[in-house]
Amino acid sequence: MFKKNEHDDLIVTHFADDYNTYLGAVVPPVFMNSLHVFDTIEDYYDTPKFVKDKYVYGRVSNPTVSIVEQKVAALERGAMALCFGSGMAAMTSAIMAVCKSGDHIICIRNIYGPTKLFLTDYVAPRLNMTVTFVGGQDICEVEEAICSNTALIILESPTSLVFNVIDIKAVTDLAKKHGIRTCIDNTYCTPVFQKPIDMGVDLVMHTASKYLGGHSDIIAGVLVSSDKELMKKIAMQEREWFGGILGPMEAWLMMRGIRTLPLRVKAHFESALKVAEYLEKHSRVRKVNYPALKSHPDYDIMEKQQDGCAGLLSFEVDADVDAAKKVSNGLNLFKTGVSWGGFESLTFMPFLKFDDQEIEWLGSAQNLIRIHIGLEGTDNLIEDLEQSLSKL
Ligand SMILES: *Cc1c(COP(=O)(O)O)cnc(C)c1O
Repeated sequence: MFKKNEHDDLIVTHFADDYNTYLGAVVPPVFMNSLHVFDTIEDYYDTPKFVKDKYVYGRVSNPTVSIVEQKVAALERGAMALCFGSGMAAMTSAIMAVCKSGDHIICIRNIYGPTKLFLTDYVAPRLNMTVTFVGGQDICEVEEAICSNTALIILESPTSLVFNVIDIKAVTDLAKKHGIRTCIDNTYCTPVFQKPIDMGVDLVMHTASKYLGGHSDIIAGVLVSSDKELMKKIAMQEREWFGGILGPMEAWLMMRGIRTLPLRVKAHFESALKVAEYLEKHSRVRKVNYPALKSHPDYDIMEKQQDGCAGLLSFEVDADVDAAKKVSNGLNLFKTGVSWGGFESLTFMPFLKFDDQEIEWLGSAQNLIRIHIGLEGTDNLIEDLEQSLSKL
């Protein structure tokens, strides 16, 4: 852990900014145009799609979007990236790109909720596919779930409510053996802390609404792969036809967020680790879910495949649901809200409306409190947690 990645620092600061093209501007402009025009009809028809510096229409590509795509592709060590209007637009496009009617999908149980609902309530009943959910940590369970028509395995690691870690390389080795594609939601770690393509993953998905944007001011998503042909297909089919490309202003804000990504995630990590250690020692806290804690059951695999951990964690208080609600509501610096990855600290109780059976299936508890450790200062945040927990 804590490896300093100079290369990432160079990508976020200067890669693809192309001063020569943009009149020496240290920050490339927002190309707020829907269209690029040509002198003649021959010029128009001779312009190939997805060739560097060739643009035709804004639903297909845009220069500002392209700069941020080049940065993310380089950070993830992929061949090509594509930005979308949200993380869900990216994830649903990935699934539609790889799978067809009649296929089988394996997905981890603790995947982001709307991704799971897309699979169970849309892909399965409407598109005639089947889905098997697995814990993901026992590789034999994953292997047993494989069918002759399995086309895709969907992963997220660490997961964003209970923070279990999947052995990514073990899953991709298995998938390759069976000719199955893999896709991972890498939002939690960001490319700074985890490089899934190096571990054999075919498609990496991010919502940039979290750390990549980093300032809680955009909704955006991105897909990356080392398979350029697959990415070109997604660009010309799923993205161009469903029309989910990211807008230029959001792309520019995403680029601005990415400039400080390595600095920010390191700050979130350092602070979150101290908060997790504080919570772990607290007499009224039963359990802390944060993979960078030595006591976490997945610590060893986390250390093997991640260079750090993010600012999101969860904990169970040693009290009932009503008392847990009081702890969450009693926080002052942590505001109640979904999402995470911005500068601000947040608290949320994700399982209040879940039934007991489903919570057990996810391996958690109804009184779970998830917090995002923002940039308000570690001591201030610990003090806030202390005053609220002390009322238990
Ligand atoms: C927020 C989130 C998403 C969805 O991203 P949007 O940009 O809101 O569509 C996907 N995965 C994870 C882990 C998330 O936290």
